[in-house]
Amino acid sequence: MGAFDGLPIREELKSFEPYGAPQLDVPVLLNVNENPYPPSEHAVADIAADVAVAARGMNRYPDRDFLGLRADLAAYLARESGAHLEPEQLWAANGSNEVMLHILQAFGGPGRTALSFAPTYSMYPEYARDTNTAWVAGRRAEDFTLDRSKAIAAISRHRPSVVLLASPNNPTGTALPIDVTEAIVAQAAALGSVVVVDEAYAEFRRGGTPSAVSLLPAYPNLAVARTMSKAFAMAGGRVGYLAASEQFVDALRIVRLPYHLSAVTQAVARAALRHSDELLGRVEQLRVERDETVDWLRSVGLRAVDSDANFVLFGTFADRHAVWQALLDDGVLIRETGPAGWLRVSIGTGEEMAAFRASLERILKSDVGRQT
Ligand code: PMP
Repeated sequence: MGAFDGLPIREELKSFEPYGAPQLDVPVLLNVNENPYPPSEHAVADIAADVAVAARGMNRYPDRDFLGLRADLAAYLARESGAHLEPEQLWAANGSNEVMLHILQAFGGPGRTALSFAPTYSMYPEYARDTNTAWVAGRRAEDFTLDRSKAIAAISRHRPSVVLLASPNNPTGTALPIDVTEAIVAQAAALGSVVVVDEAYAEFRRGGTPSAVSLLPAYPNLAVARTMSKAFAMAGGRVGYLAASEQFVDALRIVRLPYHLSAVTQAVARAALRHSDELLGRVEQLRVERDETVDWLRSVGLRAVDSDANFVLFGTFADRHAVWQALLDDGVLIRETGPAGWLRVSIGTGEEMAAFRASLERILKSDVGRQT
């Protein structure tokens, strides 16, 4: 007898567990790609003051179209990626997860297909499932890059209405070269598909990798999703957004729930954007720590994937669960994800990374750390 006995839950949902990494109370949290640095007291006070203003008007519904926040996000992307976008080309929701669900609600559905390339972000098939959209996953190459001609062939074969491309990709950290992204977006445009380039980790990318926002003027079928959860150090604020053509955004406005972005969320996001220099101030340090982590993992004989994000995929272990558990026993929580044998570690503070290295070094000397 299942847990849903007597309830008319959709048949295809019955076997699922709610998505999410374990939330455990341990000293070193390196499992969900958060920024380890909290905001300064100055930023906290400023955010709190704006929340107080929002609270005074809480008897009213919030601004449904949040054009103030959308203008601030456009200004941020102009600074960060040199994009010139109108506020009407921006969209936001409670995390980029909700932004992408809006895309599947508007462009997916029964009889339609969403396509991505595995290994990739494990929520994508869930957006598809929840919107009754068929799910197809092509494969990335052995080194986790995406072959342009294979990607184009997959799009031609499956004719998806939505293509999801994470760049940098989770859990591999791999960024897509802009010419590969453009070739895919152009092919999708020719077939009447939309493409979402999920740039949740874009601010961590290494130099020389342009953001897909540079393609927006040429492609009305393209959306570039971003989030304030990662580089912006605002995972608890739940603010994700995207940039696209105005027509694309208008389609999302049809499916969003009225007032989906609360007055508090809008106030927090706008105040945080005013403090973007401070909130993003640790990104460079985290990139250096990431590159050092890749070098260190290789120096102890492990495989580590080059990363443009704030995490590193490494391995490969005969029993990755045992390695994950042994780290946890030392108070270090990382993520058991990715292809068999691999583990993913988020980049924390210098102290946290030292604790990770010390624990892993010990494990590698024991039987638990056996590699394949
Ligand atoms: N995209 C990718 C690739 C992610 O890894 C994540 C979070 N782990 C998200 C989107 C969603 O982040 P959020 O909803 O916090 O914006």
